[in-house]
Amino acid sequence: MDTRTERPVAIVAGGGIGGLVAALCLEEAGIHAVVYEAAREIRALGVGINLLPHAVRALSALGLADRLATTGVATTDLRYFTKRGEPIWSEPRGVDAGYRWPQYSIHRGELQMLLLEAVRTRLGHGRVVTGHRLTGFTQGPDGVEVHFTDRNNGDTPVTVHGDLLVGADGIHSVVRAHYYPDETEPVFSGRMLWRGITEAAPFLSGRTMIMAGHANQKFVAYPIGAGTGGRVRINWIAERQVGRGDDRVARDWNRVVDVETFLPHFAGWHFPWLDVPGLIEAARTAYEFPMSDRDPVDRWSFRRVTLLGDAAHPMYPVGSNGASQAILDAVALATALRGMAPGADPVPALARYESARLGPTAKIVLSNREQGPEAVMQVVESRAPNGFVRLEDVISHAELEQTASRYKRLAGFDPDALNRQGASLFPEAVDGRA
Ligand SMILES: Cc1cc2nc3c(=O)[nH]c(=O)nc-3n(C[C@H](O)[C@H](O)[C@H](O)COP(=O)(O)OP(=O)(O)OC[C@H]3O[C@@H](n4cnc5c(N)ncnc54)[C@H](O)[C@@H]3O)c2cc1C
Repeated sequence: MDTRTERPVAIVAGGGIGGLVAALCLEEAGIHAVVYEAAREIRALGVGINLLPHAVRALSALGLADRLATTGVATTDLRYFTKRGEPIWSEPRGVDAGYRWPQYSIHRGELQMLLLEAVRTRLGHGRVVTGHRLTGFTQGPDGVEVHFTDRNNGDTPVTVHGDLLVGADGIHSVVRAHYYPDETEPVFSGRMLWRGITEAAPFLSGRTMIMAGHANQKFVAYPIGAGTGGRVRINWIAERQVGRGDDRVARDWNRVVDVETFLPHFAGWHFPWLDVPGLIEAARTAYEFPMSDRDPVDRWSFRRVTLLGDAAHPMYPVGSNGASQAILDAVALATALRGMAPGADPVPALARYESARLGPTAKIVLSNREQGPEAVMQVVESRAPNGFVRLEDVISHAELEQTASRYKRLAGFDPDALNRQGASLFPEAVDGRA
């Protein structure tokens, strides 16, 4: 059946979290989306990520609230500590902070599988085509010809036609490179991330997210699900300044590394409530990723082609925003295209999408370079590198409070503003509770 005659067709390149949520949102908007993913098989890769309440609002509007609740852990609070484990800041999160929607700590791959299942069940199995790597595209007056190599068939070239193309193909986006050919590798921050998951005893509230340290050396941990024998699966990220000269590591999220590479730097980090070296040592696998982003660009939409998620705004994983912002992009894209008639011109809608999302995400990219809300950890380290008796002699509660709330407004999850939004996917469909 040629669906082009019935509904506008969006070709989505990339079946990560951004691409899959885009397909679900576009379906709600009356657009027929087909996702083409380069991997031969979508597997539950990655470690933990966080979904902020605004992203959970969107996924809940897509009917995924129950699946999220059974797959992730509803985070109760976020706490910052010094490298010695002294408390700096603590704030409730998600429903505990008064949001209508939880914040979830969740395994990235499990979230991706949940979304894949939703797309295949609701839209049809054929709406996610794996083993297809986008290689190029050409725009014409009435559509886009998108070129792939079919990796399941000896890299046979395949061309499909759509009304529009969404480049949701991640940090190494081919779609972005088409428009920005002079961009080379993503910009390395000088900080290396080592990530892993360890089964261990629950810590603090049992659903707390912690960060300890400062800008040059940090440890992040949060539970992402139940383990065996009363233990929980704790996602952790060890981060360290290694210098910009050490930019040899490929930006491959699946690069396995020996824990001995970084364990010695965290050897003394035994806190009464968390044994950091013990957690690192007990992990089965650790992954290395150089913390990288790209400079914000001033255009995402080029006539019938646009960018979404990491392809549009790769950012440091600071403030739990990577996946959440990709989900907000997907909602904004579908909102802009909603109700588009078959054969209609999508160009104005793609321009509206860009103007709704490019500015806000560029601000987050830049704020994350300055550590986002975690900047207070560095402030405390700089002012009191050898510790303190009273935190208030080092940093005031007002300064801590201001930093936290400023970032929430910037990243679009100020509680009052978010709670005023309805539970429906599209903004104008107010559900009466807002
Ligand atoms: C395997 C993997 C593991 C990750 N692990 C973590 C993690 O542990 N912590 C963290 O903070 N972030 C992780 N990320 C990044 C995180 O998922 C993203 O920052 C965020 O979810 C935004 O998602 P996205 O869909 O825009 O990009 P991505 O999640 O990167 O998805 C992009 C998708 O596009 C596909 N693709 C790439 N090129 C092409 C092409 N030419 N044609 C077709 N498809 C293409 C990729 O295979 C991928 O599935 C990981 C990403 C990947 C791909």
